[in-house]
Amino acid sequence: MLQRFNLLMIATCGGLAVASCGSPMSESTALTTTLRIMETSDVHGQLLSYDYFAKAPKHGQGLAATAALIAQARTEQPLNILVENGDLIQGSALADYAVADFPVAQQTHPIIAMLNALEYDVANLGNHEFNFGLEYLAQTYRDANFPVLSSNVRSTAATPVALTERLTDIAWLERSVAHPQQPNQSIPLRIAVVGVLPPQIMQWDHHHLHDKIAVDDMLSAATAAVQRAQQQGADLIVLAAHTGMPQDTSKPEDDEQTGWLLAGIKGVDALLLGHQHKVFPGTDVYDLLPEVDTERGTVRGVPTVQPGVYGSHLGVIDLQLQYQDGAWQVREHKVATRAVIETTAAVPELEALVAPAHEATLAFMERPIGRTQQPLSYQTARWQASGAVQFVQRAQLWQAQQLLAAAGLEPLPVLSAAAPFDAAFSADDSATAVAAGTVTRGALGDLYRYPNTLDVVKVTGAQLKAWLEQSAKGFVQHEQGTDDCWAVVNPNFPHYNFDSILGLNYHIDIRLPEGERVQALTYQGQPVTDAQAFYVATNNYRANGGGDFPGLDGSQTVLRGADTLGDILLRYMDALPEKTYEEKLEKHWQVIGCGGRI
Ligand SMILES: [Zn+2]
Ligand SMILES: [Zn+2]
Repeated sequence: MLQRFNLLMIATCGGLAVASCGSPMSESTALTTTLRIMETSDVHGQLLSYDYFAKAPKHGQGLAATAALIAQARTEQPLNILVENGDLIQGSALADYAVADFPVAQQTHPIIAMLNALEYDVANLGNHEFNFGLEYLAQTYRDANFPVLSSNVRSTAATPVALTERLTDIAWLERSVAHPQQPNQSIPLRIAVVGVLPPQIMQWDHHHLHDKIAVDDMLSAATAAVQRAQQQGADLIVLAAHTGMPQDTSKPEDDEQTGWLLAGIKGVDALLLGHQHKVFPGTDVYDLLPEVDTERGTVRGVPTVQPGVYGSHLGVIDLQLQYQDGAWQVREHKVATRAVIETTAAVPELEALVAPAHEATLAFMERPIGRTQQPLSYQTARWQASGAVQFVQRAQLWQAQQLLAAAGLEPLPVLSAAAPFDAAFSADDSATAVAAGTVTRGALGDLYRYPNTLDVVKVTGAQLKAWLEQSAKGFVQHEQGTDDCWAVVNPNFPHYNFDSILGLNYHIDIRLPEGERVQALTYQGQPVTDAQAFYVATNNYRANGGGDFPGLDGSQTVLRGADTLGDILLRYMDALPEKTYEEKLEKHWQVIGCGGRI
């Protein structure tokens, strides 16, 4: 291990230890030093600057590149700690390869090997750590050379012993600062790191967790752990919270994004956020919230950082400390996020370390994961029902039905809304398509490149009609009608906002003005009434108001899934009989006024 201590200012009293000076040290003679806290979060298994779907390098991300920033930050400030804040072992092709193929029971998981090489001091768990079950979690972290932290996950009698033994509720990091006049003496600095994650994991990974662990709410668990750390003599307390803060709102309370509330816990010296994949300070994402200073990087006065996603940034909090009257005090702080940019070179030793896993992942992406009986194409999805959109809709429906059953909500009809992400605006345009036959992992990933997650909203029949009217703006009006459906696709309306809703039958009459185009709207053969209630599986972007769909602003959301839709597509295919997608293309909506349909 590196020896990590630093001394900035010389104390002048001559005793054996500063604390034993005859009189309290004056301001001018106080011992001061700076502790640097470095954070990574939401790395999601992105070890290299490489995109396995595009099969090409991808700059601006990858822990091997973030590592260059870590090395630089350590050189600048030798008294430091490096904290990982969760969502580490899921979310990349390499992580998927590791789950499917890597002999984790016998060998050190490649992600943990990289963290060991980087000499992390502690890793807080995030929600995605639980996606593959508790046995896999325990095996993955078995060889970690650092404490594995969670202050709100509680073991129960059924928790695997290996995990119970590995998890700690407070990670103690011991540092020391050399005494200015007594080179053999040093002043200890005991840092306690407390960590929490969203209790919603009990919903999101219900099947893995429901009878095996318990999770307390983040605010009460963190408050209690901070108090314990104080009682046990912590000089400094760092709260690693795998959570963000509410956005686009001035309302700070949220039980999944609780960062603002956590900043109010007395005794927290630094707050590390994550989970939302946002960058703070330096962006305006939280500007509407009270007591947030995005220039200084404070939330309610507490130095706070959030370092983006996939290793895009390193979070850095410098605490200027003063030792006086036998205690350490924080005098000043400086918060920054440092970005991995195009010219940030990855650390070659780390690239070499994961080279075998990288090669194995490349081969893994070419591997068949199932079959489809029909082509899954977005080509004509802007004017007729599409195989690719329906595959996504069916996968969303499959996942939503499981989540709804686990949550025990009132039974209602469940629909599924999705848009074509890479369709065509004209017959000559290319678009993403998977041919009928064997489907590889890489091909399926191509269908859904956005890191969206699944949300379920509860809406009325009237809201459904308004939803579809918004999509119908994807056509330009043609009062007489035309043979050519390409001619009426609105080129200014993005593909990702052209939702269709599986489970409903309807027409879009492009001869009519906007707002009056959705006709013959039925559910199971019956007209949809304004007051009828439905669940709709959709993505988090749409559910939270993306695309300005009327009546969708996040408040209709009844369930939030944690997995990306890319993952859901994979798991859906894997769960199909014979891993074969046999659904016929259901032509549940039609454009009236083009292509001969009048
Ligand atoms: Zn994440
Ligand atoms: Zn997360």
